[in-house]
Amino acid sequence: MSNTNHSLESIVSTLRTTRNADDDSLKILIETSQNCQCLFDAADSVRRENYGINVYVRGLIELSNYCKNNCYYCGIRCGNPVVERYRLTDDEILNCCEIGYELGYRTFVLQGGEDGLFNDNRVCKIVTEIRKRYADCAITLSLGEKSETAYKSFYDAGANRYLLRHETANDAHYAKLHPPEMMLENRKQCLWNLKRIGYQVGSGFMVGTPYQTTDCLLDDLRFLQELQPDMIGIGPFLSHRDTPFASFQNGSMQQTLRMIAILRLMFPYALLPATTALGTIDPLGREFGLKVGANVLMPNLSPITVRKKYELYDNKICTGEEAAECRNCLAGRVASVGYEIVTHIGNVKR
Ligand code: SAH
Repeated sequence: MSNTNHSLESIVSTLRTTRNADDDSLKILIETSQNCQCLFDAADSVRRENYGINVYVRGLIELSNYCKNNCYYCGIRCGNPVVERYRLTDDEILNCCEIGYELGYRTFVLQGGEDGLFNDNRVCKIVTEIRKRYADCAITLSLGEKSETAYKSFYDAGANRYLLRHETANDAHYAKLHPPEMMLENRKQCLWNLKRIGYQVGSGFMVGTPYQTTDCLLDDLRFLQELQPDMIGIGPFLSHRDTPFASFQNGSMQQTLRMIAILRLMFPYALLPATTALGTIDPLGREFGLKVGANVLMPNLSPITVRKKYELYDNKICTGEEAAECRNCLAGRVASVGYEIVTHIGNVKR
């Protein structure tokens, strides 16, 4: 056994037992080009200790691709004149929930760009209606940065969870991915506000965004240790042809898998999705994700007519199948790697 191999194994073992490691050790795991089977095996065994072979599913409803923000990486940024904009009606949203409920989904994730027409009142009205119809479901929102009052009113209307990736926890890097009016400080404040209100909070970041260094990824891990979120969503950066980052390389699947495994060891209880971006970069990306610690999938429930328009990056998968087909396809994929979809509400196990 080589020395470096030995040190990888000892880092993994420390990370597993203490849920922590020093900066240099973490950087080795983040950067290494070696075979990381020991990291992946440890992550899978921690996942099994906490969640068995269960995979939780969340039905994703993409409400609107209008967005007031201009993030340099994102295909639905307001500065993209080419994208055909849409927003779902309240009835369309409720219809997605109905289809999803029949297929066994017990969590609905309402995600969208920061669309002024989905104002606080309207979001409250929709959440209230979904809550009234589906008392046994979790309602997750992913609608970007809002005031604390708005977050509180959504919560009081019946929302339980909120997903807001911090995107990168390094200020200088954040400024390279976003226009000057967007600030990491605000994003973090939103996350703390959500926590204080009582939401189950999800954060996360992209792997391989332009200008990202190992130190940036280390900052992501350290920030997450402070925040202690219930869910952590990560995926590779994927370029979109009509953005300022069109000519940048995609993130790497291997590095994304290493980050998922590291997260599983640092946050044994966390809900970690194998994301659509991971499935886009490689046809088996989500299966690999499940094998290295991920335990959540978020299939699309949006009407087929709008799927292609919610294009955050090029070649997004699952834009052509009805919700029911997606559900079957996923069940097969999950079984192929030895896990099992469960349809209960799937709360975090702390
Ligand atoms: N407006 C909401 C939802 C954003 S879309 C919000 O602000 O939270 C959900 C996630 O997709 C983003 O948080 C981002 O991490 C990811 N994303 C956006 N563009 C991407 C790209 N080009 N490649 C990979 N992931 C991307």
